[in-house]
Amino acid sequence: MALTLATSVKYLKGVGPRRAEALARLEIRTVGDLLYHAPHRYVDATTLVPLARAQVGEEVTCLGRVISTGVLPTRRGLRVFRAILRDASGALECAWPGQPFLERQVRQGQWLLVTGPVRFYHGRQLAPREFIVLAEEGDDPPAKGLILPVYPATEGLTHRQIRALVQTHVDALIALATDPHPRALREAAGVAELQRALTYVHRPTTLDQAEEGRRRLAFDELFDQQLVHARARHLAKRARAGIRFEIRRELTSRLREHLPWELTGDQKRALREITDDMTAPLRMHRLLMGDVGTGKTVVALFAMLLAVENDYQAALMAPTELLAEQHHATLTRLLAPLELLPELLLGRLAGGEKTAARRRIADGGSRVVVGTHALIQEDVRFRRLGLAVIDEQHRFGVEQRAALVGKGDAPDVLLLTATPIPRSLALTLYGDLDVTALRERPPGRGDVTTALRGEASRERIYAFVRRECAAGRQVYVIYPVIEESEKADLRAATTMAAALRREFEGLTVGLVHGRLPSDEKDAVMRAFRDGSVHVLVATTVIEVGIDVPNASVMLIEHAERFGLAQLHQLRGRVGRGAAASHCILLSDAPEAAERLQAFARTSDGFAIAELDLQTRGMGELAGARQSGAPRLRFANFATDLPLLERARQAAGALIASDPALEQPAHAAYRTRILERYERGFELFRVG
Ligand code: ADP
Ligand code: MG
Repeated sequence: MALTLATSVKYLKGVGPRRAEALARLEIRTVGDLLYHAPHRYVDATTLVPLARAQVGEEVTCLGRVISTGVLPTRRGLRVFRAILRDASGALECAWPGQPFLERQVRQGQWLLVTGPVRFYHGRQLAPREFIVLAEEGDDPPAKGLILPVYPATEGLTHRQIRALVQTHVDALIALATDPHPRALREAAGVAELQRALTYVHRPTTLDQAEEGRRRLAFDELFDQQLVHARARHLAKRARAGIRFEIRRELTSRLREHLPWELTGDQKRALREITDDMTAPLRMHRLLMGDVGTGKTVVALFAMLLAVENDYQAALMAPTELLAEQHHATLTRLLAPLELLPELLLGRLAGGEKTAARRRIADGGSRVVVGTHALIQEDVRFRRLGLAVIDEQHRFGVEQRAALVGKGDAPDVLLLTATPIPRSLALTLYGDLDVTALRERPPGRGDVTTALRGEASRERIYAFVRRECAAGRQVYVIYPVIEESEKADLRAATTMAAALRREFEGLTVGLVHGRLPSDEKDAVMRAFRDGSVHVLVATTVIEVGIDVPNASVMLIEHAERFGLAQLHQLRGRVGRGAAASHCILLSDAPEAAERLQAFARTSDGFAIAELDLQTRGMGELAGARQSGAPRLRFANFATDLPLLERARQAAGALIASDPALEQPAHAAYRTRILERYERGFELFRVG
């Protein structure tokens, strides 16, 4: 039987049924899977120091045979695993304090590669930060001077066994790989040829080579992803004959005249992009992304007025009643000089009011409509909906967003989000949307000072809270409630609220958390908004939305337990009025100090999202995984943005020239997408 990349690994020499099972646990079923099972790290053993020449105070990598092992207690009761290594130059002791269990892994006769500092402890001693068993007793000593790939392993299959298996077969397997990219594309993207890249990945001679190999594999998966996005955009555009709004400079110009301030540069740019979309024959499908306070609402309002002056209606849907009320109040204020009265539709309106509101929406009397999910109820009908704006879009399901859009005849769509994400992620998650970012903040608003404090400062912080409240301001105290330990956390938050009630005698302390029925929650939040609650103890339920300009302090307990993006959302709750505001992070966790300090230094949500991405990985970012899309295995979102931009460009050009990838030269791309993407078939169906 001829070997192909689709051949089952079972047929490889050295793979029996047991091993095939272990490989399957690593999702390796075909020999192609094995070929693409890339090392997750490399050990640089190109410069080995002979054991006899390892000097105290140096960082060294050494290779030696284990000649004896043992576990010894220190005087302080710590158990230390030790192994003595020998090479041609001499011997050296290695010590692993607190790791007696290594006795079961490291045995006499093995060849060990160790990396770490040499110190003095009754003689020279190496304290390995890392070690790898390179060969078992009886094996030949491993070749020196190499970059050692370390593969993800699984129970019953060590990384050594996988490495041996890969190294045995890799040349034959690489010979089966054919590069789908023409040379011109590779050169434009700046990536290596496929066979060469695979060789670099599995057998690099330098770490740079290994990285060059990884970049090529990363490019390929990003390219696939961007082909899918480009195709989705292509289809959507074709199907997206929309309304062609005309610039009339009536309501929009009057709003501009009456605004008490100038639009920021970013707002103007956003407005230009939106206006271009709306006046084009295709439907707008745009995401406006910006921190709280960057002025998204005003931008959305201009778009709404452009629709209204073209004799259409515009609707703004928000995820909670509080937010909808807030938007309605803002719009009412801004539209007053224009003698335009926005409509508010909420689920809790009394029957008569609701009916009247629905009637005004149906007969077109209401031209600007704000509401919650109540807007997408079946009995709500618009006379002529031309623009659907969805605030905090990620808090709605796909069907809910579609339901609002479905209230019109191909209306334009503007999505808003206050959760900025790095561009690399936006291109991945929202590759089929157009994205506008608002980064600039309007001037003249109260600054928020952020400080990191420990338990020792608690008394002083409480005194500060008392002073702020005495001056008529309000304070948030946030408690983390993490799902795994929700019960205990909630108890802690409740206890905290009780303690604060005693602490702040004469002030009213409210408590909200996710387990409260929503009407009670709303009642407490409203009381806070109206100033009758002074200190609001809350879990992260207040994260989005609520706008209380009078609140000037945000105190966050156990700050180390929050992601930076989440802390940033919380911080955005203060500094909404003119008063100088404070965000105080309480944390005594040393391992989080650096991260929290970096957070305290910056107020740019995009920069913070980048930081989060670098320190916690993309899995932690809200909604980072797209359903139906394969996991990215080689790409690194923190560093691969340039590569992603190139993949996006190349994919866009390819789809422009061959929209369904029907040309024979593109068959390999097509096949790969159909195999890997759930949406692939639907998107690339021919005809
Ligand atoms: P977002 O929805 O992005 O959180 P908003 O649209 O609610 O932000 O704006 C936040 C506050 O800033 C509002 O009080 C708004 O009136 C004000 N604002 C918006 N744009 C400007 C501007 N260009 N200059 C000054 N203040 C502005
Ligand atoms: Mg807003």
